[in-house]
Amino acid sequence: MARIVEVPETTWHNFHYTEKNVPVAARLELHRDTSPSLDDMRDSAEAVQQRIAAAIAQGRQLRAHGATWAFSPVASIPGGWPLATGYANQLFPVPASHVAPGFAGDPEGLVLCQTGISVAELNMWLEKRGRSLATTGASNGQTIVGAMSCGTHGSAVDHPGIEGQVRAIQLIPAPDRNLWIEPESRPVTDGRLAAMLGATLVRDDRLFAAALVGLGALGVIHAVVVESRPRFLMEMHRQRLPLTPALTAAIAGGDPAGAGLPGQVGPDGQPRRPYFLQAVVADHIDAGHVVITAGYQRAWQDDHVLDYSINPKRGPGFNLAVVVANIMAAAPGLIPPITKAVLAGELSPIDGSRLTSWGQTFNFTTPRAGQAGASLAVPVARVHDVLAICHGAVAAVGPAPVAFAVRYATRSPALIGFIRFDRSAIIDVDGIDMPATRAVMARVVADVRAAGIPHAEHWGKLNQITPASLAAAYGPALDEWRAARAELMAPSPAAAAVFASPWTDAAGLT
Ligand SMILES: Cc1cc2nc3c(=O)[nH]c(=O)nc-3n(C[C@H](O)[C@H](O)[C@H](O)COP(=O)(O)OP(=O)(O)OC[C@H]3O[C@@H](n4cnc5c(N)ncnc54)[C@H](O)[C@@H]3O)c2cc1C
Repeated sequence: MARIVEVPETTWHNFHYTEKNVPVAARLELHRDTSPSLDDMRDSAEAVQQRIAAAIAQGRQLRAHGATWAFSPVASIPGGWPLATGYANQLFPVPASHVAPGFAGDPEGLVLCQTGISVAELNMWLEKRGRSLATTGASNGQTIVGAMSCGTHGSAVDHPGIEGQVRAIQLIPAPDRNLWIEPESRPVTDGRLAAMLGATLVRDDRLFAAALVGLGALGVIHAVVVESRPRFLMEMHRQRLPLTPALTAAIAGGDPAGAGLPGQVGPDGQPRRPYFLQAVVADHIDAGHVVITAGYQRAWQDDHVLDYSINPKRGPGFNLAVVVANIMAAAPGLIPPITKAVLAGELSPIDGSRLTSWGQTFNFTTPRAGQAGASLAVPVARVHDVLAICHGAVAAVGPAPVAFAVRYATRSPALIGFIRFDRSAIIDVDGIDMPATRAVMARVVADVRAAGIPHAEHWGKLNQITPASLAAAYGPALDEWRAARAELMAPSPAAAAVFASPWTDAAGLT
């Protein structure tokens, strides 16, 4: 039966150890029954409500988390109760009979996901049933709720982040409230599903947009409805190319048609638009070149084999990145050659000969420690200004094991989704976690701010967020998000403190 198990541990860390030795009162785990049922999900929501009541009674803070892949302190709750959701992973197709009449999307594609389902599990479940997610992150180990709560994105050029596929949210903001939130302008269900889960149906565009990226600060999200699409195949290509003027323009959102992207000419001899596009630019170690990954959508083939086994190159030693970091710290002169060698291994050519489903295209394992990532969303036309700042930061800081990747997405439907521009480029600063890497990350943000380039930082990656930077990035949308939070918490003011954290307080969010 659904229940919350209390594990008597006194410290907490995230998966990649960028947050570690966080003192906690205990660690909590949300468990489900072995046989899936909506009754069990109803019991599960009640268990969460009882724990929120206990948190209020004991003056504790509580924060749900997924895979703890966020590098930032967004999931940390010092002194409180971290609630692990990964075991609560039931999935049900939403019957077409329960879909709201007039629903504008695909009524055959709606899936009820309990909070802890991972993106990789969801991919596998959907693709066996002829469906697919339209976009995910570049790795798939996050939970769907953890990923949406920070606005996780991939590089599907015509799609927003993962939260763009969420159509309804079951949110538990207080001991006596269990809400099923859908947009009023786009109702999704007829209300019976909410009733079966013991939830109150709320149709409200603003509350829905607030809860799409909620950072765990609005309560516990117990389930979401995701809209899937028919499954498809990807033909992926990767090539290191000279940075020509046409490619330079395409990277900044120009017409990719004449840019000579790898695999651009399709089987019919015609140029095609990439579904997925990523550019890795590393002037500091490979000047004048760029590594382009381009993926093209292909029709599903009935004989396609859905084999998800992966062969992670760094699997046997999850601390290899730490070892490498220590070598580089001891011998900074080795940083450029090691970075170049690692990049060459990670970005080896792909020739498009193997077609993969969306879920097969991305990896769901990751080295556990030693990595660090930061990301900024900017208007796509400003890509080269930001890349120049990135390379200037490496020049100023000195040798650093970092690379810069450009990915693309469209504007987030969430009030505080960090992908804020209609056509956004997301500049990833990825590297081995050592002081030089962190210094480059901080310098990039400082210089982007100084240059007045509109931007927002990824909530779940290492960031330099302050109340002032959030006000500059989100403007009135941030006030709307805070107002939505206040409205959700108003009937039970004590719960507002439960779902704050030192980090959200310092950022002026709570
Ligand atoms: C190897 C790696 C690869 C990555 N790749 C990408 C990428 O391609 N694109 C990208 O955008 N980001 C990427 N990230 C960042 C990562 O996707 C995000 O930080 C994401 O939010 C992590 O999801 P999670 O399930 O681990 O959530 P967690 O880290 O566990 O939590 C993240 C946030 O979600 C909240 N949350 C989780 N569950 C609930 C719930 N049930 N109710 C309420 N709040 C909840 C938490 O409180 C927290 O605020 C990557 C990170 C790593 C480590």
